[in-house]
Amino acid sequence: MSRRVIPVADFRSLPPPAAGAAVPSPTGEVLDTLARPLKDLRISVTDRCNFRCVYCMPREVFDKNYQFLPHSALLSLEEIERVARLFVAQGVTKIRLTGGEPLLRKNVEFLIERLALLRTPQGEPLDVTLTTNGSILARKARSLKDAGLTRVTVSLDALDDALFRRMNDADFAVADVLDGIEAAHAVGLAPLKINMVVKRGTNDREIVPMARHFRGSGATLRFIEYMDVGTSNGWNMAEVLPSADVVARIAEHFPLVPLDPHSASETAQRWGYADGAGEIGVISSVTRAFCGDCTRARLSTEGKVYLCLFASMGYDLRALVRNGASDESISAAIARIWSGRTDRYSQLRGSETGPATRAERRIEMSYIGG
Ligand code: SAM
Ligand code: SF4
Ligand code: SF4
Repeated sequence: MSRRVIPVADFRSLPPPAAGAAVPSPTGEVLDTLARPLKDLRISVTDRCNFRCVYCMPREVFDKNYQFLPHSALLSLEEIERVARLFVAQGVTKIRLTGGEPLLRKNVEFLIERLALLRTPQGEPLDVTLTTNGSILARKARSLKDAGLTRVTVSLDALDDALFRRMNDADFAVADVLDGIEAAHAVGLAPLKINMVVKRGTNDREIVPMARHFRGSGATLRFIEYMDVGTSNGWNMAEVLPSADVVARIAEHFPLVPLDPHSASETAQRWGYADGAGEIGVISSVTRAFCGDCTRARLSTEGKVYLCLFASMGYDLRALVRNGASDESISAAIARIWSGRTDRYSQLRGSETGPATRAERRIEMSYIGG
């Protein structure tokens, strides 16, 4: 069988120093063309995963012939730490490790230790967190906590074991993930968040059971609209269940009250249980775009910077890192890249938009990490 490669993205060359001089805000932050500061960095530490979630890494595409990145292409943990430090110098205060499955990256704890030692220019520690499918979290929770991880987000799409196994398409049991959640809770990786991607007709019947299960547990369950990320998941608008429907379905069983956002750049809208049993969040990337407050940059496993989840091109920082560039020039490149940012895909998305109608190939979720 021929080897199959999804062309993840073309590269943009880095903007020349004079072309896009960084625009500092009154507070010294770097702002993009829509006046959005750089605040969050999502770092993908591997493009590999032990799951084959149907909406992310469909097995027909990510099969045994799929070419993942070779080890030499990956940024080393030391290179990641250096780049992260330079992002922090440009305003980043929050770092999320993701993947693929980040817990599959060898010595990820070492990276967490290094990131936990970073400080903002104001001397504050960072918020260092991680999104995981939870499959090996029970084994890792203690070492992650000891390394300095503050909290964790665990993905779980169903409580029905047969359905969950079908959705992860790798025969992992719900019990494995629930054990991981329990272990994270026990070691104090808090506040815990649970992410559920809702696909209409696939797992929407699990919305209320999931809400019932996590109510009162201290964990915040967040419902994510199924997104048209990448080009391999066969996304279709008909399979998107709007967050408004999710809220309505839960409210029929457990009355909800709207809560104020924690911050302007928060992706989830918060709802509290009227009886005080905690809260849920809904992430409405399809039906209610939040690009106006998007302060997130993404660093791929191989060291490319993407300015949007739906980007098709990234800026190659690895080349700078491996060609002996100084901290100052990498820092300046980060500022230039951010100051030229125009991305607001979700705001521009039309109801007809989707992988089938787009000429460009977009990066895959498993490559950039959500
Ligand atoms: N493997 C880890 C996990 O699943 O938590 C981290 C990487 S995964 C790409 C990050 C998040 O993206 C997960 O919560 C996953 O459910 C979500 N995700 C993946 N594909 C998605 C899609 N098409 N639409 C919405 N969310 C998606
Ligand atoms: Fe793996 Fe996460 Fe994608 Fe599922 S969503 S296939 S666990 S990277
Ligand atoms: Fe940010 Fe792009 Fe998502 Fe808009 S579509 S919120 S710019 S990642």
